[in-house]
Amino acid sequence: MAAQETVEHKYVYDFAEGNKDLKDLLGGKGANLAEMTNLGLPVPPGFTITTEACKAYLTTGREPDGLAAQIEAHLESLEREMGRKLGDPQDPLLVSVRSGAKFSMPGMMETVLNVGLNDRSVVGLSAQAGGNDRFAWDSYRRLIQMFGKTVCEVPGEEFEHALDEAKRAKGTQNDLDLDADDLRGLVDAYKKIFAKHTGREFPQEPREQLDLAIRAVFESWNAERAVVYRRQERIPADLGTAVNVVAMVFGNLGADSGTGVAFTRDPGSGAQGIYGDYLANAQGEDVVAGIRNTVPLQELEQIDKKSYDELLDYMARLEEHYKDLCDIEFTIERGKLWMLQTRVGKRTAAAAFVIAGQLVDEGLIDLDEALHRVNGAQLAQLMFPRFRLDHEFQPVAKGIGASPGAASGKVVFTSARAVELAAEGESVILVRRETNPDDLNGMIAAKGILTSRGGKTSHAAVVARGMGKTCVSGADELDVNVPAKKFIVAGQTVTEGDVVSIDGTTGKVYLGEVPVMPSEVVQYFEGSLDPEHIDNPLVRAVHRIMTHADAKRRLLVRTNADTGADAARARRFGAEGIGLCRTEHMFLGDRRELVERLILASTGEEREAALAALLPLQREDFIDIFREMDGLPVTVRLIDPPLHEFLPPLEQLAVNVAVAQERGEDVAKEEALLAAVRRMHEENPMLGLRGVRLGLVIPGLFAMQVRAIAEAAVEVTGAGGTACPEIMVPLVGAVQELETVRAEAEKIIAEVVGDSGVEVLIGTMIEVPRAALTAGQIAEAAQFFSFGTNDLTQMGWGFSRDDVEGAFFWRYLELGIFGISPFESIDREGVGRLVRIAAEEGRAARPGLKLGVCGEHGGDPDSVHFFHEVGLDYVSCSPFRVPVARLEAGRAAITTTGSDSR
Ligand code: PEP
Ligand code: MG
Repeated sequence: MAAQETVEHKYVYDFAEGNKDLKDLLGGKGANLAEMTNLGLPVPPGFTITTEACKAYLTTGREPDGLAAQIEAHLESLEREMGRKLGDPQDPLLVSVRSGAKFSMPGMMETVLNVGLNDRSVVGLSAQAGGNDRFAWDSYRRLIQMFGKTVCEVPGEEFEHALDEAKRAKGTQNDLDLDADDLRGLVDAYKKIFAKHTGREFPQEPREQLDLAIRAVFESWNAERAVVYRRQERIPADLGTAVNVVAMVFGNLGADSGTGVAFTRDPGSGAQGIYGDYLANAQGEDVVAGIRNTVPLQELEQIDKKSYDELLDYMARLEEHYKDLCDIEFTIERGKLWMLQTRVGKRTAAAAFVIAGQLVDEGLIDLDEALHRVNGAQLAQLMFPRFRLDHEFQPVAKGIGASPGAASGKVVFTSARAVELAAEGESVILVRRETNPDDLNGMIAAKGILTSRGGKTSHAAVVARGMGKTCVSGADELDVNVPAKKFIVAGQTVTEGDVVSIDGTTGKVYLGEVPVMPSEVVQYFEGSLDPEHIDNPLVRAVHRIMTHADAKRRLLVRTNADTGADAARARRFGAEGIGLCRTEHMFLGDRRELVERLILASTGEEREAALAALLPLQREDFIDIFREMDGLPVTVRLIDPPLHEFLPPLEQLAVNVAVAQERGEDVAKEEALLAAVRRMHEENPMLGLRGVRLGLVIPGLFAMQVRAIAEAAVEVTGAGGTACPEIMVPLVGAVQELETVRAEAEKIIAEVVGDSGVEVLIGTMIEVPRAALTAGQIAEAAQFFSFGTNDLTQMGWGFSRDDVEGAFFWRYLELGIFGISPFESIDREGVGRLVRIAAEEGRAARPGLKLGVCGEHGGDPDSVHFFHEVGLDYVSCSPFRVPVARLEAGRAAITTTGSDSR
């Protein structure tokens, strides 16, 4: 019988066996230690236990078969290399046991240093350190403290308390004043604490220390803070951590030792140079604890020129090798430099662009790679003005960062007051419980909008993003009282005219004026900075990378705009047309009354009169927009308001009528109005008489709009321009709805357009799940589809888009039901699937059917990648998101893996 061969799973890798591409298996730290080892850099020897071992441990609750023996074998070879044995009484090898996951999770998991020390090897360590007893006992007490806390869950404060006691007894506040005897006493005290809490003595067996420390690092993957951090950073929960076992080197052996961090470029600005800090006679943890002040890395040149020159050489080699900014941790032990860690360093948004540009100049990477290394979230950050924050400003509340930017101004509570004060040249912040379409003028006048209710797709949020205006929504710590013109927050009352500052990126609210810096990147997009002639590395890098993204992308980028001014700005930002013009926004302000008359009309004449008054106004609106978008497609959506937005509030009306009746006034007209409003009242307006339903119920409404669009197009074209209108029908669920509207529209278009040469397309929103599922039928009647992913998400999940984010999403996020609001980033499996089905079936029925998206997701980086994959022709987003969408569409075209530049 043939011998059965069992191939043992490999759980442990020597540093010499790994490389930087094995992050999944060896974690970031382990993979990079291996890479440095193979580059010939001085890395203390060691080995890495894989994430697979961790995962196996976490699933079964015990170490996988073979792991213990593999650790033994690698430990032996480490001992051979170092010429010392772990915990040897005469000449001990000590090791550190460090976590290291695929994605850096700073400070979230555990580390144990000095493993291998015990009552006997502490003496050997002292001898090794030239009779430095103090150092040896200090190392031992650190081991008991770290081991106790991380491996055996002994409360850390007890050790701190004992340390404080020792210092008090000595009459000092400084750890360094404790001598060897004091530290020996402290070790005894620590051991007692350990025994009290664990019911056992501190383990003296070095290998047991090592095994328990490894196990503790495995378990720290599921520590609560690590779980919370992963959720926040959207790091998958099933990756596990690797464990690095590394020979200890000591930076605290005297003036010729020390420890430091270094960056190969400035992670703040991207500028080239030598950045970092050094602390003599210290271990890494002392730097973090801030016990003494570090010195700039350049000063190491005076302290230890040899190590400094060596370090600079390694930094240059690492940058050349990784082709990116590296950050480095190092230790010098008695004049010998050791490299303890490197990784591609985190950086600010500005540095990301600048460094990518520099690396192209230096020939280290090509433009595709530069494009891959930046992302839309970074670009968005660079486009908003920022607060210049210093410590005197503390936030008083935190809401949802609904539309980024930084704005300060006087508090106002009504749209009218906002307009009034803005006209006097004041900056104002419009504060409301929530906004509604009537607040539009106030929102336009305000520098920023602050609401105490509503989520990222509340009215305030959507409209503010559309305008590129700063908005914090759902700041529920604010008790807003509009009639009293005040709000209360953190026990303070803020009244009209008081100044507040809001940060639409972080959602933070400050009292008083926080100074603001404008964005140069926006000035560039607006055309007021010439990228070729400006001495600003950030603007130059943005220009270069954007140009490349535009050359690479397949998706076109349009904008959502309802006014000529928005259209013009979006065009400067690179929009290639309008993907959504929401005409209901044109029915506000002075025109509201006309719309109210139209909706409530009881006779044909009343209705005709209202429509006749609206027609010329609408025509002017469209002329303005077609002119600004000359030569580019403009998708005009027929009116789609939830009805309640155009009717007087029922309760208010009822109260007015009752009061007037009480006073014996003649209320016949008001009563008729009240009856009509009652008749049309809906419990659920978002699922009610809106969109195409309204168009089919109110005769002449859509016809008036179609006529206005066609007449405007003919006029602009007649004047030498080129108008390319696309009429879009909202909220269609069945092909019959579309067919009915289309038949009427085509007649009007034929009549108005005649032989002017204007071509008008007719298409539909796909935003009701039924429409997505019957897209094959609907495509027969539609010349284009535009996905309304806001409503598709609302109706797909059954989430009220105005309520849920503020109400309970926090709990869903906490439970991991989703990692990000589906209103913000497309839910690929559910709502995304509806998009995919509709795209496929629509195109099967009508080859070449033009497909776009105009929901908020059109400007979300991750969603743009999805729309690229699904094969849409364009995305449409608010003007300020246009550059972000251009960049991400470019990135989507050069990568198939989605946006993962974490
Ligand atoms: C949508 O539903 O995605 C959409 C664009 O329409 P609105 O937001 O106006 O409902
Ligand atoms: Mg919609």
